[in-house]
Amino acid sequence: MNRNKKLVIILMGPPGAGKGTQGELLAEKLDLYYFETSKIIEEAFNRAEKGEFVKIEGKKYFFEKEKKLWQEGILCSPPFVTYLVTEKIKELFKMNKNLVLSGSPRTLYEAGRVMPLLEKLYGKKNIKIILIEVSSRESIFRNSHRRICELMRHPILYTKETANLKRCPLDGSKLIKRKGLDDPETIKVRLKEYKERTFPLIEYFKKRGLTVKKVNGKGSVAEVFERILKILE
Ligand SMILES: [Zn+2]
Repeated sequence: MNRNKKLVIILMGPPGAGKGTQGELLAEKLDLYYFETSKIIEEAFNRAEKGEFVKIEGKKYFFEKEKKLWQEGILCSPPFVTYLVTEKIKELFKMNKNLVLSGSPRTLYEAGRVMPLLEKLYGKKNIKIILIEVSSRESIFRNSHRRICELMRHPILYTKETANLKRCPLDGSKLIKRKGLDDPETIKVRLKEYKERTFPLIEYFKKRGLTVKKVNGKGSVAEVFERILKILE
């Protein structure tokens, strides 16, 4: 791929749609930086000291309070997430990275600040938005069966091919369940949050003149990946 060509791919879809897995595959195939918002948030929580906060537009956001929301499956405060995300985007742009985002933007507030920034840095025509569609039932099933690896937190989507997997195919570390986040009750909250707060972004993108392409999320990881690549052609 031409190094001077700018590209940002935004993957949308309910929890369990396979955004993480597809994001990693796209990153590798197209030489993109895999921008995983949940990882950026988790890293920020791990780095944060007791009582630490960020002040945004005159209001204080405490890391401990945000972490509690996160653990319950509720989206963190949009200004807090937006702050972390926009800082990271600017840093990556300076490093000449093209991006694939999964998990951002997630709220209208965040989109209202992240999209203008991405458009300014990368250009509107270089932003590709892909909505991976799966049903609520499928989403709940996949999330309750999802695992991650102990070492790098690589997401392992539940499929026929991965059902009996014991170790991470990328680094060999043990596969574990995400504590809390993938409990059935938490998943229901996450799904509701998606429907009420994230799905409306599709309309927002269209109003901004951005194209949103839909992809059927059913089937194996490889099948969905093929569909995405075809759309990007
Ligand atoms: Zn791994």
